[in-house]
Amino acid sequence: MIKPDAVAAGHIGAILAKINEAGFRIVAMKYTHLSQASAGKFYEVHKERPFYGELVDFMSSGPIVAAILEKDNAVADFRTLIGATNPAEAAEGTIRKMYAKSIGENAVHGSDSDENAEIEGNFFFNGLERF
Ligand code: GDP
Repeated sequence: MIKPDAVAAGHIGAILAKINEAGFRIVAMKYTHLSQASAGKFYEVHKERPFYGELVDFMSSGPIVAAILEKDNAVADFRTLIGATNPAEAAEGTIRKMYAKSIGENAVHGSDSDENAEIEGNFFFNGLERF
């Protein structure tokens, strides 16, 4: 996902260019706006974390871009491309280093496992929306 902060700041194009340059193939993509309920469901695994409410408010605060990306070793390589959760700790050249504002408003989301990538892909896309 490209999160609401990066969409509002006009970084969709630059972030997609970095994703393309890194060798990911786009399988599915959409521009949408999560409701509070949808954002809450997407981040349900973090329900017990102290920042859950803030995260749900933020993720439903404006439109996002959701995508399914394909590549060998996609989960690990995408996490390398986006950098650490906290942009202050993210490596030079990573998407979060370049475009994230803070640990909460951190420009992009990446799945943390193949299993969660499948769950998250199914959250946004049906079979007719994948190419
Ligand atoms: P990620 O896998 O790198 O996205 O990081 P996590 O799974 O640990 O956290 C999920 C998301 O919750 C992050 O990408 C942030 O948007 C948000 N988040 C994590 N830590 C904090 C925090 O301390 N404060 C706030 N407000 N949000 C946080």
